[in-house]
Amino acid sequence: MIHTSGWRQPGWHFRKITCNNYQKNNTNKFTSMVRHSSRIELSQSALKQNLTFIRKKIGPDAIFSSVVKANAFGHGIETFVPMAEKAGVRHFSVASSYEAWEVSEACANDSTIMIMGILYDDDLEWVISNEVEFFVFDIPRLKKAKQVAEKLDKKAIIHLEVETGGNRTGLDESELKTALSYIKRHSDYLQFEGFCTHFAGIESLSNQFRIQKQKDKFHELYKVVEDEGLSPNLKHTACSAAALAFPETVMDLVRVGTAHYGMWPSPDIYNLHLQQTGKSRDAPLKRVLSWKTDIMHIKEVKKDEFVGYGTSFQAPQEMTIAVLPLGYSNGYPRALSNRGEVLIRGKKAPVVGLINMNVFMVDVSHIGEAKVGDEAVLIGRQSNHVISIRSFSEFTNAINNELVSRLPQAIPRYAVK
Ligand SMILES: *Cc1c(COP(=O)(O)O)cnc(C)c1O
Repeated sequence: MIHTSGWRQPGWHFRKITCNNYQKNNTNKFTSMVRHSSRIELSQSALKQNLTFIRKKIGPDAIFSSVVKANAFGHGIETFVPMAEKAGVRHFSVASSYEAWEVSEACANDSTIMIMGILYDDDLEWVISNEVEFFVFDIPRLKKAKQVAEKLDKKAIIHLEVETGGNRTGLDESELKTALSYIKRHSDYLQFEGFCTHFAGIESLSNQFRIQKQKDKFHELYKVVEDEGLSPNLKHTACSAAALAFPETVMDLVRVGTAHYGMWPSPDIYNLHLQQTGKSRDAPLKRVLSWKTDIMHIKEVKKDEFVGYGTSFQAPQEMTIAVLPLGYSNGYPRALSNRGEVLIRGKKAPVVGLINMNVFMVDVSHIGEAKVGDEAVLIGRQSNHVISIRSFSEFTNAINNELVSRLPQAIPRYAVK
């Protein structure tokens, strides 16, 4: 990746947070002089363990592409990308040209960025001149790329994505043939870097009949490439579930999101891992993200009083309530009203009443010493207790990825050991 002048906007890194002991690690461009109402900590050691574990599964040769779409699954591109680089990653995959730009602001000069999704014609100039790679799944994009590449006198680095049965994006066989002959004719401006597809639900064992068809189709379409006398530098198909459980899908590169953040793609994939290793339990993937806030206010509530809006919670006895300074607008799901739990002073404190836009309340009656300013853990560990990402999903029906990827960009992220 080449950083041309004008990329790094001055001023973004100038403002430093002045509180806590985070100063050293803080590189977050969204961090201001004043404090946000919650914070996200990212564990470098958890990330390292996850990468080591995944590397064992995929073998030594495949390029590991860290999928950092959706603000690195909510972990925060600006903080996460340098952490991944510190752990040896030099390839990043994103869903849009906008995200590619975000990564380019955060990554090292020698890292590669690959766009798997939306790329507007207007952005092709920036993308090609900065050697950002991108999926091509229709002929108009291929032609436009060649046009822009020719204008810049630079090669567009492309990955042909083929349709194998996912029916999302991908070239069908006749489009592939058109694309291949076009690439042959314009090889001065088009670098055939990758040949790829994406599986539609490989994390589910009951879906394997469909996945098998996709695998077969991929190989069939690759024959078309060979017949044309072309060969891409890289073939790739594997996402997290594929990389962890189906070695035949690990080719020259893997595109891994979910697993390297420390989440299993599905119970099926976890169970397969147990079967393959003969273990009855194992926890090789470590949660990278923790989410924390502090108590904003403490209130004594009399028996029979209602807490917060409406009448969804009535105190069954005299209670002590802690008010936390965040709500559904900050990514804490409203579905956790009267259901969620946070950790305060090493104990579980249940949510009482509705999650409001910017505050919610928890019961701390059993935590006598709780006081304003105490840390409250929303996701993560505090002494012997853990609030897992999964525990959210149980109540909200949202998959793990949905919860984390929606954590607002404005929450500051910090790298911790
Ligand atoms: C999101 C995505 C991935 C990563 O999927 P995980 O299951 O999170 O590893 C890989 N490839 C493509 C095309 C994607 O959109």
